[in-house]
Amino acid sequence: MALMIYNTLTRQTAPFEPLKPGEVSIYVCGPTVYADSHIGHAMSALVFDVVRRYFEWSGYRVRHVMNFTDVDDKIIRRANEQGRDPMELADSYATTFLEQLAALNILPATAYPRVSTTMPQIVAFIEGLIVKEAAYPAPNGDVYFSVRGDADYGKLSRRDIDDMRSGSRIAPGEDKDDPLDFALWKAAKPGEPAWDSPWGKGRPGWHIECSAMSLHELDAQIDIHGGGNDLIFPHHENEIAQTESLTGQSFAQVWMHNGMLQLAGEKMSKSLGNLVTIEEFLQHHSADVLRMLVLTSSYRAPLTYTADVVADTERKIERLMSALRPATGGLAEGAAADSLSVVVAKTRAAFRVAMDDDFNSAAALATLFELVRAINTSRDAGLSGATFEAGQATLRELAAVLGLRLEGAPVSQTAAAPFIELLIELRADLRLAKQWALADSVRNKLAALGVTLEDGPNGTTYEVKKLTNQAE
Ligand SMILES: [Zn+2]
Repeated sequence: MALMIYNTLTRQTAPFEPLKPGEVSIYVCGPTVYADSHIGHAMSALVFDVVRRYFEWSGYRVRHVMNFTDVDDKIIRRANEQGRDPMELADSYATTFLEQLAALNILPATAYPRVSTTMPQIVAFIEGLIVKEAAYPAPNGDVYFSVRGDADYGKLSRRDIDDMRSGSRIAPGEDKDDPLDFALWKAAKPGEPAWDSPWGKGRPGWHIECSAMSLHELDAQIDIHGGGNDLIFPHHENEIAQTESLTGQSFAQVWMHNGMLQLAGEKMSKSLGNLVTIEEFLQHHSADVLRMLVLTSSYRAPLTYTADVVADTERKIERLMSALRPATGGLAEGAAADSLSVVVAKTRAAFRVAMDDDFNSAAALATLFELVRAINTSRDAGLSGATFEAGQATLRELAAVLGLRLEGAPVSQTAAAPFIELLIELRADLRLAKQWALADSVRNKLAALGVTLEDGPNGTTYEVKKLTNQAE
């Protein structure tokens, strides 16, 4: 079965066919770096990280570009407030964001272009649009895109140009022919960073950067353009207008948009002041928790962030990790092995079916939970050895396709494991010798360290709680 993806442009789900066999090009709009990033920014990066991981696991080579907007009104305003250089301020927030993406187990993009380092390509792009008469320089040094000259403007957001016209007017200081026209280049204002251009000193408008970067880093045509659904209009609409007017070709084959992360029913945003920064989140939870939160519902739907949802997500991670506890029994084959093998094969197939359905991560997770149940049942039945380990390896492999680290789970491979096992043996000996008080003391002291013992028909197993702390 083919991979089906929902395309905002067509409002339909269709089989994905890459432009070049075996290769996928993805451009995802990144943040404007002027403050601490919040978990809403991470959501888009997480969604497209899963998309990318699934393509790579399916054998594609992925070229993945994410930009940093480092020239922008908000950056300049904040830098002026703090008496800092705007480029230095943007650079420090971009550096922090990259560190946080790594902490969230988000694979590094192929390229992270910034406005400040793409200026020649941006200027050349605008020059090309002027040559094609899709854009015009204004007497004040601004350059505008001529919306009325673009016959299919509005096709992504399905807006009618005449409807838009009735609600818009030319703002003071704008030197454009039509209220719908948008700035490609803004003439320099005092106290702002500015770059040389054929139209005098100035800086780019916001939308042009992504068109220029995508063309420069990828190709005229790309497979997937992604971002939050708050970017559909005007940002992505304008990107399409710019790129297609310059190249004469359709820009992205598929437009993918993720839903917004909401806190108390509202979009998380700096301007609303209702945000949880990535730093705050990671102080209290593991990266897997945020990822699991995103994976649990459709990437296209809004995601509500509450303490209850986070607690529920923590339990789901623990459940997944319960399957990674070592085996204690001595059975290597038999009915338990056969039934686990069947579930492993079914899980692999069902996982792919789920992900092929527009990256249905919630359904993919459901298949992993079935595998967890089968692994734990087989352990209780005394299974160990190759089949048991293959079950755990499949769980790890598929969880990794979703970007889950399940860290702390391989307690059997950590430095503490032999000592925990030694104490379990010692406790068993104490119990045999009817030294109950000492045996209980071993158990209680291990519990105080976060290691819980569980006595079963095939001996004692253990679980390490506070796994994230342990990994740190
Ligand atoms: Zn963009």
